[in-house]
Amino acid sequence: MKIVLIDRDGVLNEDRADYVKHPGELVLISRVGEAIARLNGAGIKVAVVSNQSAIGRGIISPDMLEQINGRLLSELARAGAKIDLFLVCTDAPGSPSERRKPAPGMLREALSHFRMVPADAVMIGDQLSDLRAAKAAGVARFLVRTGKGAQTQASGLPADILPVSVYDSLMEAAVSLVPIA
Ligand SMILES: [Mg+2]
Repeated sequence: MKIVLIDRDGVLNEDRADYVKHPGELVLISRVGEAIARLNGAGIKVAVVSNQSAIGRGIISPDMLEQINGRLLSELARAGAKIDLFLVCTDAPGSPSERRKPAPGMLREALSHFRMVPADAVMIGDQLSDLRAAKAAGVARFLVRTGKGAQTQASGLPADILPVSVYDSLMEAAVSLVPIA
């Protein structure tokens, strides 16, 4: 594995039904910094691929999203963790582009940024849209049970996106990719 593509809400930070609207609403999920630092240490690239329809819906401004993501990056940095590439799709669901998950555009963009191929990558997410985007991009699929993940698993994973590896958290997924020596 050379690159891990990670969803934001529900994987790195707690999901909010009413969206993370300012930095004060950003709550990191336990041990995510440690998980990413573990991938960093193994030389695996880490890219965030995040749908942020709150912008397309007019709920937050692009500047506010910058501030929220800036807070996320600085909290991760305090844990020694670095995000190598941060991609967002601000489309509203009613007018999605090829970038908005479940379409694979952002995933392909991340791969081409690092000149990598789908077989180099795994996508880690908490919703079916993450897994569908990964399937469409030809990328391996991990579901984490944080955020909406437990609900996604309980609803039943469609046969066409299998196999999907399921982990309790990003930390557990990171340990499976970079085993404890
Ligand atoms: Mg999510």
